Amino acid sequence: KDFRNNVKPNWCPGCGDFSVQAAIQRAAANVGLEPDQLAVISGIGCSGRISGYINAYGLHGIHGRSLPIAQGVKMANKDLTVIASGGDGDGFAIGMGHTIHAIRRNIDMTYIVMDNQIYGLTKGQTSPRSEMGFKTKSTPGGSIESALSVTEMALSAGATFVAQSFSTDLKDLTSLIEQGIQHKGFSFINVFSPCVTYNKVNTYDWFKENLTKLSEVEGYNPNDRTAAMQAIMEHNGLLTGLIYQNKEKKSYQELIHGYSNEPLSKADLTLPEEKFNELVAEFM
Ligand code: SF4
Repeated sequence: KDFRNNVKPNWCPGCGDFSVQAAIQRAAANVGLEPDQLAVISGIGCSGRISGYINAYGLHGIHGRSLPIAQGVKMANKDLTVIASGGDGDGFAIGMGHTIHAIRRNIDMTYIVMDNQIYGLTKGQTSPRSEMGFKTKSTPGGSIESALSVTEMALSAGATFVAQSFSTDLKDLTSLIEQGIQHKGFSFINVFSPCVTYNKVNTYDWFKENLTKLSEVEGYNPNDRTAAMQAIMEHNGLLTGLIYQNKEKKSYQELIHGYSNEPLSKADLTLPEEKFNELVAEFM
């Protein structure tokens, strides 16, 4: 169960994405997967390269479109564990429409966002996660837009699993990814993954000072959606841990009438000649 391959990541030294890669590899091994039971589908951006660095099925897709591809993979082969991943620009700007609908659709898969609050691959512009006042080459006078609160967005969209982590908390992050893989539905995991090259505000030290661990909040119950929303708002989204889980709601696959137990990718879809002729006759 070795999810490492011999491709050397070309992320900058110190980039948070290294830990996310390690956490996915550890989590996959810990839940007992074999490399041919996992598919990692990614979008475009520095973090999008991750699908090439994991020994599993992988597809480095197009910008903002990791989720439609990943959902298609899961629907075609329900036996695969599917992880979609990418950055905050990929998932919350160009891909936002897919993100919201994938969350509410609740297909059994895991979506991991490496959130560095900036566009790193294009050399440092504001992203939907950049705070107001954030100065970059694209906003030299400081951003005049509010940062999107993504955990709030996920809860509002009807998420059944919402978690958040920090890339240096490898143990916690690995555990959350394991829980996400095991959750029967769509798991949304946002990971603060600092960009050491272009984001000089939201640094490792900044996160250490500003994040609150939910495991240290007395009496916190991740099955209470109202309490989850309240906690996010109280802490301005700067929380880590399992924020919310609903184990009762059925996944998309469970609700489809007649969805085959046999993965579609393995089913015999050959149309008998007689049936084919009947169908053609209908259109003549
Ligand atoms: Fe990571 Fe930023 Fe370097 Fe991209 S530019 S690899 S996000 S540190």
